[in-house]
Amino acid sequence: MKRKIINYMSRRNLFKFGATAVGAGLVATKLEIHPFDVPAASAKRTLTPDLAIAELLQGNQRFSTHKMKQPNRGAFRLREIASGQKPFASILGCSDSRVPAEMVFDQGLGDLFVVRVAGNVATPEQIGSLEYGTLVLGTKVIIVLGHERCGAVQAAIENKPVPGKIGSILDRIQPVVIASRNQTGDLLKATTIANIKNQISIVKSSPVITDLIKNGNLKIIGGFYDLDTGIVTQVA
Ligand SMILES: [Zn+2]
Repeated sequence: MKRKIINYMSRRNLFKFGATAVGAGLVATKLEIHPFDVPAASAKRTLTPDLAIAELLQGNQRFSTHKMKQPNRGAFRLREIASGQKPFASILGCSDSRVPAEMVFDQGLGDLFVVRVAGNVATPEQIGSLEYGTLVLGTKVIIVLGHERCGAVQAAIENKPVPGKIGSILDRIQPVVIASRNQTGDLLKATTIANIKNQISIVKSSPVITDLIKNGNLKIIGGFYDLDTGIVTQVA
């Protein structure tokens, strides 16, 4: 019941609810006592979803053309955000060491709320993190970022026995592998793009996320990172 109430609350109301609930002697939820709740005093991130997307793509253009600004990485920024964060974008990206979000989008400390897992799969924990990043911290865009020659997608296609818990990740990619078998051409790329789209639809199963989208406070897009050029292309 409590979860349902929180699901349908706006971010502002969530803070109010926290104060009211504590005042009324109710059990406080985990969200309102989290230290991340305090926004940076000098945060000036009042971007719209479209401007947030533009900011990301411009950053990637700087990166891929070797004209990085490397913003927000100095001592001032460190102090500025020490007491609270107000990132403008959330990333659900692959753990691949060649695709570090802050670098490929040329951003700095406190700019991105990054969730990384092999194969950029949306598990309940990843979705919960994205809900936190958007609803509580106020990020304006979620980009599900897959990439060229992804080892997790390749392993899902090969579908061989794997040790430990690796299979739990591959299981989450499998549905699109089966669907991609009829594709002609580059099966790995086609499956990677199908996986990006599938993970977007899984993230959208969250009422918290869909409410933010419906109210114009959030957009969710897909991106495909080219390992050779460093360019992120939007996935339609
Ligand atoms: Zn990968």
